[in-house]
Amino acid sequence: MNAKIIDGKAIAADLRAAVKTETHRLSVAHGLAPGLAVVLVGENPASMTYVGSKSRAVAEVGMRPFDHHLAATTSEAELLGLIQRLNADPAVSGILVQLPLPPQIDAARVIGNVDPEKDVDGFHPLNAGRLASGLPALAPCTPTGCIKLAKTVHPSLAGLDAVVIGRSNIVGKPLAQLLLAENATVTIAHSRTRDLPALCRRADLLFAATGRAEMVRGDWIKPGGTVIDVGINRVSAGGRSRIVGDVNFAEAVKVAGAITPVPGGVGPMTIVCLLVNTLRAACMQAGLPPPAV
Ligand code: NAP
Repeated sequence: MNAKIIDGKAIAADLRAAVKTETHRLSVAHGLAPGLAVVLVGENPASMTYVGSKSRAVAEVGMRPFDHHLAATTSEAELLGLIQRLNADPAVSGILVQLPLPPQIDAARVIGNVDPEKDVDGFHPLNAGRLASGLPALAPCTPTGCIKLAKTVHPSLAGLDAVVIGRSNIVGKPLAQLLLAENATVTIAHSRTRDLPALCRRADLLFAATGRAEMVRGDWIKPGGTVIDVGINRVSAGGRSRIVGDVNFAEAVKVAGAITPVPGGVGPMTIVCLLVNTLRAACMQAGLPPPAV
């Protein structure tokens, strides 16, 4: 029997509607108007697409978008100057600097200069440290979305064996921390892991975040297990190009109990989790309790 398909698009749409309602409530009850500054440096086509989607999503839920598109030749000092102005601007609740940045700019230094209370990407070392310490933090959006998807299948993740393939600061490591916070038993795998297929076959929850197209095969999956595919890989065959995940979907769907498709799984959740973080940041800055989403 084929796995249940976890419909990230529909789940994200429900959450977006809840964010819109909560944004309206905060506006009526407290005169709060959350604002997100999206900073793009250069003309990277993928980044331009992502930034466009984020700004549109912000406006759609009734938040205020502040778009800053800087030339590819922008210096690090100029970008840091903008970040300082956004940190000081009370209308800006959240700041997102689209990565990658051009080579003359040190991305770690830029991230480190964003006010941690406005760090809606959750990349600032202070938020990473708070997350690892089990303290309230703005957590990265993609891993947060992965947890929400897994919980549509397993309302409690407590005690489940979770394997995360990938240890990036953006996905793998924060995802492992969020899973620990949910009381899962977590293994982080990477390119030096020995016998990865055998490790994966133990997983009640398997998360693939490697950037390697269709690397995870059907016989790596525990029968009935849940598979969350973070990968976004463009592959070309026969003159046509398409997007695939890090999991071989056609094989995996025959073994797993539930699986996310690519596209339409984790991707839509990332943007809506950015909206949730912007709402949380706005509440935090206004001294209000966290939003009900
Ligand atoms: P990354 O920084 O390149 O990290 C990839 C990780 O995968 C590394 O830890 C690497 O191990 C591990 N890896 C690579 N090849 C492996 C192999 N053969 N066996 C085991 N582990 C292997 O990538 P990322 O930023 O985390 O992104 C991962 C994927 O998620 C990409 O496809 C990206 O496009 C996608 N993504 C999607 C979203 C979304 O919104 N859906 C958001 C972010 C990223 P080492 O550390 O040992 O090198």
